[in-house]
Amino acid sequence: MKSIVCPECGEIITVNPDELEMFSRIVCEGCYSTLEVIGEDPIEIAVVEIDPDDFDDEDDFDDDVDD
Ligand SMILES: [Zn+2]
Repeated sequence: MKSIVCPECGEIITVNPDELEMFSRIVCEGCYSTLEVIGEDPIEIAVVEIDPDDFDDEDDFDDDVDD
């Protein structure tokens, strides 16, 4: 097993080395951030920013609905 440090909250996360391939995603148990492996040697971890635009279709309804 390998230990990585969450860049967001500093939590130490123990992961199987098989899960540390490039672009593998790991969810931090401390802050629930999604982390992505961006380097293998040495291991580099980055927080994946979830794009808020993915969630903004709530107030974007079409007005031209025919009743
Ligand atoms: Zn964290």
